[in-house]
Order: sequence, then structure tokens, then C-alpha cells
Amino acid sequence: MTDVLVLGAGMVGVSTALALQEAGRDVVLIDRRGAGEETSYGNAGVIQAEAVEPYPLPLSLKTLLSIAAKRGNDVNYHLSALPSLLRPIWLYFQSSLPARHKQISKTYAGLIKRATADHAPLITEAGADNIIRKTGLRFVYRSEAPLEASVRDSERIAREYGIEVSVESSAELAASEPHLRPGLAGAIHWPQSWSCADPGGLTKAYADLFLSRGGCMVTADAASLYAQNGGWTVEGPEGPISAREAVVALGPWSPLLLKRFGYDIPLLRKRGYHRHFTGGGTLNAPMLDAASATVLSPMLTGLRVLSGAELSRFDAPPTPCQLSRGTRAASQIIDLGKPVEAEPWVGNRPCMPDMLPLAGKAPRHEGLWFHFGHGHQGFTLGPTTAALLAEEMTTGRAPVPELSPSNRTLLS
Ligand SMILES: Cc1cc2nc3c(=O)[nH]c(=O)nc-3n(C[C@H](O)[C@H](O)[C@H](O)COP(=O)(O)OP(=O)(O)OC[C@H]3O[C@@H](n4cnc5c(N)ncnc54)[C@H](O)[C@@H]3O)c2cc1C
Repeated sequence: MTDVLVLGAGMVGVSTALALQEAGRDVVLIDRRGAGEETSYGNAGVIQAEAVEPYPLPLSLKTLLSIAAKRGNDVNYHLSALPSLLRPIWLYFQSSLPARHKQISKTYAGLIKRATADHAPLITEAGADNIIRKTGLRFVYRSEAPLEASVRDSERIAREYGIEVSVESSAELAASEPHLRPGLAGAIHWPQSWSCADPGGLTKAYADLFLSRGGCMVTADAASLYAQNGGWTVEGPEGPISAREAVVALGPWSPLLLKRFGYDIPLLRKRGYHRHFTGGGTLNAPMLDAASATVLSPMLTGLRVLSGAELSRFDAPPTPCQLSRGTRAASQIIDLGKPVEAEPWVGNRPCMPDMLPLAGKAPRHEGLWFHFGHGHQGFTLGPTTAALLAEEMTTGRAPVPELSPSNRTLLS
């Protein structure tokens, strides 16, 4: 019997395996695919130093009506999905009320603040410095009024949380990003954010580091998990694999497994789409085109264009209308060239309605641990919450109790 099974080899699971290995545990990492081939592949690759306040549900009636009427491009929804999402949306609404959101942001900012420092040694030891850029992240504006509103908010965030920001004029933006078409109003630049030109590749490089340090990875279905002889077992290709403890790090799939153990996790899956383009312009840093709520991120494969959030049933067919609109809008500000893939990639941001990842002991099962629900920032936060979870699993004390499943009223 080994020490720990880590179920799921996305950024969160691979980081967990590394942190537990560092703490002296024998770890078997389980995935039905290769490392970093799902959500941890499809994201914008930003290690976000600026994301100190997690996205609340908009509370203004005007914004809610605009979303309901599908007027903007930041949120889309499938009407058929709404009945099943009522509970998570209600919990999300409660957590988004200003006083509660402020409290959550305090915890969140504490995690975000250490994220680049937690990635740094892993990047170096995994030999992945060549795919990391330390050129920041831009929010780009086409007209003055939204730029000015964003300047006010960004300066407040920078002041309250002690992070760096700068405002770029139209000419400064053109100098920073020469492939953007002229005439944009300007940008907010967050210089402390990093980005990765191959997010799936970085996750794989971390998994290879875990293997090179003596770890073991097995292709198996985590859905076969069961409790046995005071430990946890998964059916592997060559027979059962058992450990004293198991960590569920299955990202958006985590609630499917935990339902069998009696946990009803109100995870809100915010779908996103992407597609790569080559042969046109490129960027020195990822950017949000604020007008179309579309992110453009330079990758090894080409310029990755990513959509905002879509609320749908997990198994609903893809409806990449936000990505289509975002691509049309992006081509007004940069030459995109030609699409690489015939169809867009689709995946899900695994969001807890209280906007904090779950990292800690399962409330009703000995030796079972939760580690998922990192929402919009799991690529950023994987190594950070992994270090916190490993500390709790080693010392029995939760360093950030707000992340513990037992302290979360939404699980009761
Ligand atoms: C469009 C988009 C853009 C984003 N941009 C950013 C960004 O710029 N920065 C950032 O920090 N975050 C970003 N995110 C969020 C980030 O990608 C996720 O929070 C993060 O990847 C979640 O990692 P994970 O390891 O929890 O999940 P995953 O990467 O999905 O890993 C889960 C793993 O579980 C495995 N699995 C599932 N079921 C089973 C089973 N039954 N048996 C075995 N294995 C199983 C899967 O194969 C997978 O490898 C973005 C997300 C999206 C969708």
C-alpha cells in the first residue's frame, strides 16, 4: 500500500503530487489521460498576479438584464441549464454581496500574492523557463470612457493590495504591442503577471519532474475509487492500486465522483472556448480586449483567442457563439491570420460559488481529501493550494482554514 493516490493530473493534481512528494510521501498520480490535457491545457496560460479579487456575480440590475438579454459577450447561457444551476447561482449571489466579497477577496489575494513565487522553483527545476514570459498582462480599451473607469478600479486594486499597475497611452500601447492596429485608446498593464506559451506543456513538465523524483503515474479511471481496509483503492490496468489516503483533484469532474460518496458539490462550471490563429500578428504579452470580453494569448501553436464564460449543462453540445463574436472583434484590432484547428476547443472553469478553491479534509470520510474548484485561476493557484494542502496533510493543521471543506457552509 502506498501513501497517497492523487486523482487527476491537471495543474492542481500534478502540483499536489509534487508537494506531497516534497513532504516525503509516496504518491501515485492517476489520470485517464496524459497530464495537462484538459482544462490545464485549454486556458489562457496567465499566472495572474493581478487577480486578487475573484469575479463576483454582477449585482446591478442593468448588468443582469444585459446578461439575460445576451447583449454583451462576456457571459452566455443555455436556458435549458438554468433550472439545474439555481442552487449554485443563489450561493454565488450570496457570496457576491459586497461585505462577503471583500472578505473572500482578502483570502484570495493572500493566495494570489504568492502564486508566481510558488511556480518559480518548479518552472526552473522542470526546465520550462523557455515557455514562460514575465511581460505582464494587458487590459486593452478601444475608447476613453471604459479606459478611464478601468484606470480608477485598477488603481484602487493596486493601492489596496499592494500590486503594481501602469496605464499606457495609445502611443505607449502601440510601442509595447506593435502588431496591434493603431487607434486604440490605451491599456492597463499589470507587469507582475507571468504567462506561459504552452500551459498543457508546463503541466506535463511538472508531471515529468514528479516522475524524475521517483513518483509514479498510472492511467486509470478515478471513478472506480472505493474505500477498503482503512484506505482507498482504484482499479488500475494491472490490478487494484491502494493507498492510505486519496486526494480528489479532478477539476470540473470532481463532483461526479464525490456524488457517489454522498457529497452534493454545488460547482458552477463556466465553460470557455479557444482557437489558435497563425500567419498574422502576434503579441508580447496576453491581453484582454475589454470591448469584446475576449482574451488573446500568444502560444507556441499560434495566437490563442479565448472566450468568456458560458453557463450550460456539462454534457451540452458546444455553442461557440462568444468565440465567433470575439474572433470577429479581435480581427478589428490585430491581423489574426488563419485558424489552426477546424473546431474550437471547449472546457470548463471549475468554480465554487463562494469563489474559493476547496483544499482540505473531506467532511465525512477518513483519509479522503478535496482539492478542486479553482475557477478562473487554477493554472495560477495549483502550486500554492497544493503546498497548503500538503502542509495540512502533514501537520494536521489547515494553514488557510477558509479553504477547508468542513468550514464551507455551502457544503452543509
Ligand atoms: C477558457 C479558459 C481560460 C482560462 N485561463 C486561465 C488563466 O489564464 N490563468 C489561470 O490561472 N487559470 C485559467 N483558467 C482556469 C484553469 O484552466 C483551471 O482552473 C485549471 O486548469 C483547473 O485545473 P485542474 O487540475 O483542477 O483541472 P483539469 O486541468 O481539468 O484536470 C483534471 C484532470 O482530471 C482528469 N479526470 C477527470 N475525470 C477523471 C476520471 N474519471 N478518471 C481519471 N482522470 C479523470 C482529467 O483527465 C484531467 O487531467 C482558464 C480556464 C478556461 C476554461
